[in-house]
Amino acid sequence: MLPKAQELLQSKFGYSQFRQGQEAIIQKIMDGKDTLGIMPTGGGKSVCYQIPAMLMRGVTIVVSPLISLMKDQVDALEKTGIPSTYINSAISNDEMQERLASIYNGEYKLVYIAPERLETPSFLRLLEGIYVSFVAIDEAHCISQWGHDFRPSYLHIKKLIGHLRPKPTVLALTATATPQVQSDISDLLEVHEEDVVVTGFERKNLHFQVVKGQDRDHFLLDYIEKNREQAGIVYAATRKEVDRIHHFLEARGLRVGKYHAGLSEQQRNQQQERFLYDDISIMVATNAFGMGINKSNVRYVIHYHIPRNMEAYYQEAGRAGRDGEESACILLFAPQDTHIQSFLIDQSDMDEARKENEYAKLRKMVAYGHTESCLQQYILHYFGEENAPECGKCGNCTDDRAQIDVTVEAQMVLSCIRRMNERFGKTMITKVLTGSGDKKIKSFGFDKLTTYGIMKEKTQKAVNEFIDFLTAEGYLRPTDGAYPVLMITEKSGDVLRGTEKVYRKERVRIAQIVKDDELF
Ligand code: ADP
Repeated sequence: MLPKAQELLQSKFGYSQFRQGQEAIIQKIMDGKDTLGIMPTGGGKSVCYQIPAMLMRGVTIVVSPLISLMKDQVDALEKTGIPSTYINSAISNDEMQERLASIYNGEYKLVYIAPERLETPSFLRLLEGIYVSFVAIDEAHCISQWGHDFRPSYLHIKKLIGHLRPKPTVLALTATATPQVQSDISDLLEVHEEDVVVTGFERKNLHFQVVKGQDRDHFLLDYIEKNREQAGIVYAATRKEVDRIHHFLEARGLRVGKYHAGLSEQQRNQQQERFLYDDISIMVATNAFGMGINKSNVRYVIHYHIPRNMEAYYQEAGRAGRDGEESACILLFAPQDTHIQSFLIDQSDMDEARKENEYAKLRKMVAYGHTESCLQQYILHYFGEENAPECGKCGNCTDDRAQIDVTVEAQMVLSCIRRMNERFGKTMITKVLTGSGDKKIKSFGFDKLTTYGIMKEKTQKAVNEFIDFLTAEGYLRPTDGAYPVLMITEKSGDVLRGTEKVYRKERVRIAQIVKDDELF
């Protein structure tokens, strides 16, 4: 099968075997089928378009938002004797004109472009005048409004494809796409269902862990000091927090850098270079850091705050262990941080439908912090892999605290929600369960319910947390929107009927902060 592709893999890239998915994708492209390839980070997506590009007549256009990676890729291709170039805002005008002329003269096999380039009519005309046999779209989730990194300029790709004659073959590639985003990409690019190649999202060498109820600075410092020799990234939600954490670590004599959009381009480049060349071992950064960072030996990624959704989390955490070595992805989880992300969604200029979608995604992120099931499995389910097994090595799989039976408490919550006709959110439900004297409760007549005050010996905080746990484990389903209503799921029907039990890991007492009555 594909002897020429196999030979190129060996002669140009020095690899003897294709990785999972690569061969299937290359075969489809060579058969002229528009294809969507979903491979985990580090899975080897580049080869999937570089090899067909060499085998096809004419030019291959690679659309990528990762400006810093373009140069590396082009340099590597040129070294192996594959004529290629890139066009983006980082090159001078003279250089640009020279490259455009060379493209027109057919001197390159691969041309990398940033998506914004497709908004330039003269560039489109240039492409129309040459033979473009193949268009590869990297980070293809950027084309979807429902993705975590929608870029309007990606929509121009479709226009480009429509203009070119004969129509080029199209390959869309991504490492992070929920089933919704996958079908959105397929619809927009008209990829047939049988031409979607999914090799799975699993990154076997990553250990996931959620740390809660601890002093975050203390945990961070302790972890970093124990891993002094290793490279790691610490993500924080705001520039101010990045500055603070950076200062905190630097004052303790650690080799640490920082990166956020408030620094000048020169400062950012300098920090990035120092990190890449191991001059500093820790980078404290906002999510501005990372797109296009190809540092393979990052041993840990710690999130000091929760990111806005699971796609962003997996992409950022996934910057650990690109070399395949065992690496850690740790989330320091404090439920109150959700407010920062909610606020950012609320303040954004997205339309209502997108905001609702973002809130729903944020809730899935928060549920990751609350779940007591396998973390890797949770992630893979999120990306549509229903049958993912437990990983056996994440923080939850290796949590050996005793399981306690909380079925009765779960039944209390579920039956209360049912009696409130599944029309209220967490705060109201908690108030009813704890027997609050709130006027609103009385006006709805909820103080007459048999479940009113059924958990009055617990604090509201503990009940709230228990409801979060039930949501994370799929016993409750929040509706969309900023103030979700909690609904009963099929799974909780079994709990109410008494045919399924609910277990929770025994709560540990954190110093003296948590009172007895807060323990479930
Ligand atoms: P992605 O874009 O999917 O994150 P890359 O295309 O950058 O991944 O590939 C990740 C690494 O795997 C690169 O160092 C690449 O050279 C290597 N690689 C790709 N294909 C193979 C293969 N068939 N065998 C071994 N290594 C491979």
